[in-house]
Amino acid sequence: MKVIRLRAGRERSLQRRHPWVFESSIEKGRADPGETVRVDSSEGQFLAWAAFSPSSQIRLRAWSFDPAERIDAAFFERRVAAALAMRARLAVDSDAVRLVHGEADGLPGLIVDRYGDTLVAQFGSAGVERWKAVLVETLLKQTGLSRFYERSDASVRGLEGLPEQTGWLAGDGATELTIREHDWRLSLDIATGHKTGYYLDQRDNRRRFAEVVRHFDCKKVLNCYSYTGGFSVAALAGGAERVISVDSSAPALQRAVQHVALNGFDAARHEARDADVNQTLRALLEAGETFDAIVLDPPKFAPTAAHAERAARAYKDINRLGLKLLAPGGLLFTFSCSGGVGLELFHKIVAGAGLDAPADGYILERVAAAPDHPQTICFPEGDYLKGLLVLKRG
Ligand code: SAH
Repeated sequence: MKVIRLRAGRERSLQRRHPWVFESSIEKGRADPGETVRVDSSEGQFLAWAAFSPSSQIRLRAWSFDPAERIDAAFFERRVAAALAMRARLAVDSDAVRLVHGEADGLPGLIVDRYGDTLVAQFGSAGVERWKAVLVETLLKQTGLSRFYERSDASVRGLEGLPEQTGWLAGDGATELTIREHDWRLSLDIATGHKTGYYLDQRDNRRRFAEVVRHFDCKKVLNCYSYTGGFSVAALAGGAERVISVDSSAPALQRAVQHVALNGFDAARHEARDADVNQTLRALLEAGETFDAIVLDPPKFAPTAAHAERAARAYKDINRLGLKLLAPGGLLFTFSCSGGVGLELFHKIVAGAGLDAPADGYILERVAAAPDHPQTICFPEGDYLKGLLVLKRG
């Protein structure tokens, strides 16, 4: 077993059970991509078993902090079993569930989503890439499923020095699927959809949106960055009379239109706009339109804290425009999925947007990703999705 020795004073993070070690913390030692290594402090004290990643800034990802644990097939079977058991206890109201959420489930870099009878995974670190065959076998066995599709085409693969890889790992057939989320039916393509096909992390927030649209009697709703219209279906289910979905992806919008029909809503209640959100918000303001509820669910403006400042301006801009477009007493459901923007900063950004609008509002709720995308105590980076439900003051 190869040993990687850390620099003096750099053992703190692993001692706190944070799974990452950056390249700058390493004193000496090398290994192959994904190889299991023993990580020692500068004084030679055991800290963790980890996967080595020669090309990534995150040079080590810890598998285990237990000196007695062996990193073998049985280890991965146990980790997968624990992840599945946690999801079983959550009783998610959908047949599409995130089964493995990377670091939170002790499997750094691995994302596994279940869409009905199909598993879709992203192998996003050298460690899980190396153990792919074992992981695929145990996931199939433990779920009892036979279809497994790989979507290792995210940008993190490049950072890990891994080529993009997509296609069937087991089984085959149609990549176009229909899932149930709450009372709704949604379609997706696991081969071409964003991420593994759908934004499962917003599941509970979509349901909440349907509830508040009904409760606050919102008639006119604007869904910005709609993707395939999940929040639009929610708004229609909540009784909205008119919903506009805005996204810059034409295929996503086509699906949004299909989803309105698939869920039995009158097509006349929904409009899809293939456009840039920022420009659309400005155009709607100029046209003197107002809305009773607005969703702002933009893509990741700040992947890391280094991008936070530029991202903050972009978030502030859309939130300012959104607040201006809201009728008094209207609802803003605003999100950031940037790991580099914490809840406190996001709150400040929305406060700044309110000052500039000018508008004030009550923060009714603070929300996060659905619990099948768990956050853990030791890994604050896992807290990527945050949202505020704001009621504009009259
Ligand atoms: N709310 C969605 C997920 C949104 S993901 C859901 O619940 O499923 C972010 C979306 O923003 C993507 O669909 C992407 O196509 C879109 N997007 C990115 N930049 C955009 C822009 N400048 N204008 C409009 N849409 C944009």
